[in-house]
Amino acid sequence: MKRKRHKARSVWIDITFSAAIVLLTLSAIFLVFMTENGHTASQSEKETKSSSPLETEQIDSNYPGIKIVTKTSNDKNAPFAIQYPQSIHSSFNSEVKNYIDEVQVRYLDTLTKKKQQDKKTTGELNISYETLPHASGNYSFVLVTSSRYSDTDTGKTEIRSFHLNPETGESFTIRDLFEDDSDRLQSLSSLVRAEILKDESLKGHLIQKDMERFTEPRWMNYRNFSVTDDALIFYFDENTIANNIVGPPIIAVSIDAVKELLATTFKPEDKEETVDIVDKDKGEEIAEENIEENSTDPSSETEVSKENDETETTLPETSLRKKVALTFDDGPDPKVTRQILNTLQKHDAKATFFMLGSRVEYYPDIVNEMMEAGHELGNHTWTHADLTKLGPDRVAKEIEKTSAIIEEVTGQKVEAFRPPYGAVNDAVHNMTGLPIILWDVDTLDWKYRDSARILQVVKENVKDGSIILMHDIHQSTADGLDAVLTYLSNEGYDFVTVKELEETSS
Ligand code: ZN
Repeated sequence: MKRKRHKARSVWIDITFSAAIVLLTLSAIFLVFMTENGHTASQSEKETKSSSPLETEQIDSNYPGIKIVTKTSNDKNAPFAIQYPQSIHSSFNSEVKNYIDEVQVRYLDTLTKKKQQDKKTTGELNISYETLPHASGNYSFVLVTSSRYSDTDTGKTEIRSFHLNPETGESFTIRDLFEDDSDRLQSLSSLVRAEILKDESLKGHLIQKDMERFTEPRWMNYRNFSVTDDALIFYFDENTIANNIVGPPIIAVSIDAVKELLATTFKPEDKEETVDIVDKDKGEEIAEENIEENSTDPSSETEVSKENDETETTLPETSLRKKVALTFDDGPDPKVTRQILNTLQKHDAKATFFMLGSRVEYYPDIVNEMMEAGHELGNHTWTHADLTKLGPDRVAKEIEKTSAIIEEVTGQKVEAFRPPYGAVNDAVHNMTGLPIILWDVDTLDWKYRDSARILQVVKENVKDGSIILMHDIHQSTADGLDAVLTYLSNEGYDFVTVKELEETSS
């Protein structure tokens, strides 16, 4: 009960965050696919998993009965990273796979055509997804597909939803939610339009005529949706109801507003106490804030760098060995992080991982491995947002939610925070109850994706007490780490966590 009340109170915050996660998953996994071992992709490889040079991996998700399939290709000419859900039900599986295949074909075709015009064209395709469970046991899967064909191309993002009752294997549609009743559809249409007009992030971007057309009471207009215990969320296509916003418009209607219209299966349980209105209004303010920060390229992290002018003379007299703190951001990643953990273990090195809450939620096992190996677990926000651009409530939520998931997964308290892009201002400073950890050696691993170059940067910049910035989402970083550790070890460095570093320097 207690948990329920809390949930209802924060309904709008949750909505904002589930929208944010969709966008983030996109940008986070976007980084990953550039780095996986590269192979040539061709359409014929789609069905031939085992003999394919592509990397295909299938792992259990956190949702019972659902597996995550990951396919990556780092073919320089046509890279992609694709992640989608599969179940034990063949009709659902093929429905999802058909969509994935269709997107892949579309991508490769477009790329071929563009290459005929400009040989240097390179493409990028990323498909990631989020699972939204409903109390009834039903799942909504929201697949976010982004593609682009040059560095300057802002790219296209498409959202498609799939729905499954994991027990029966049946799919459900928006018609099922409203029992195919056209009067209820009419009401839904009005509710959605009202939400669109209230949405601050769409102000000034709405295309009135299109907005009306794409929210007309036609089932087709509402086919991409997810249903949670708090909200019914609709995903519209880019440039349909609004222009020049980041990503496709996402509109949430609270479950309270539609509960009378819903089929019994999806009606909320009534025993919940009603929430006071003040709280809800506050929540709405948060929901209205734009989430565009999430799609910002994390690579600009390097723009802000720590001034670390503390001199080498701080070397404690008691210790002949020097100390360095290795830090890894933006993970965890099921493959790259594990390789990094193995390399660290080989050198008996401790490091600090500044993780995204959204990824911790996805890959809890690897976070536990980190913790058991004695590494420090740090907070890097939930969505990799630039906190200096968010209101205080969002900032708090980004940080608190991430610490909470790390603590929930590992039972260990989080004691270090690194803001995305190193971006902090006084407000952010005052809000984090955690030490803010920046860095003085930026390996630029995200930029060069060159394992040898990491060592070169470290050699040129490291000193006693340095904090080195790397990212455990790039294969090249994992590949280059062994050489870095060997070098530093020979130079008389011990590898400590940021906490240990702070303890010795103070
Ligand atoms: Zn980062």
